Amino acid sequence: MSYKSWFEAHAKKHKAIVDRLTHLSDDEVIAYFDFDNMVKKEPDFCPLYKENKKCHDTKELNCYLCACPNFRFDDESAKKQEDKTLFSLCAIDSKDGSQYVGEEAIHQNCSGCLVPHSVTYIKKHFSRDWLAIMIKVPSTLSD
Ligand code: SF4
Repeated sequence: MSYKSWFEAHAKKHKAIVDRLTHLSDDEVIAYFDFDNMVKKEPDFCPLYKENKKCHDTKELNCYLCACPNFRFDDESAKKQEDKTLFSLCAIDSKDGSQYVGEEAIHQNCSGCLVPHSVTYIKKHFSRDWLAIMIKVPSTLSD
């Protein structure tokens, strides 16, 4: 699956949930997206939910800002790092981020970074319009 198709499908799923939660306050919407609640109430939101498995090894995980406003991807990337194509990166160069380096491609590895998953961060950047928060995520990467 390309980044773009995942991103568009995820945006639709996120919107469908948020549109059902008009009776909740913003804080309650954020709490609804807590991993443990989402696994029970929204099993189709993430493939990992079926296995009750988190993408990050952490006790508290909030899924509201999955994938992360700081993530940048470009399926048609023309950006090179050494002789490989860079398809995604971290705009804030998180100290906890790293890279998956393949023979021809490099992808950002966010598995060690919890920046978008804390309630404090989500409250700071909150909008019920997930795409508005993620506006810069689909990018054009070039040298
Ligand atoms: S934050 Fe992790 S567990 Fe939650 S929806 Fe995203 S990938 Fe799935």
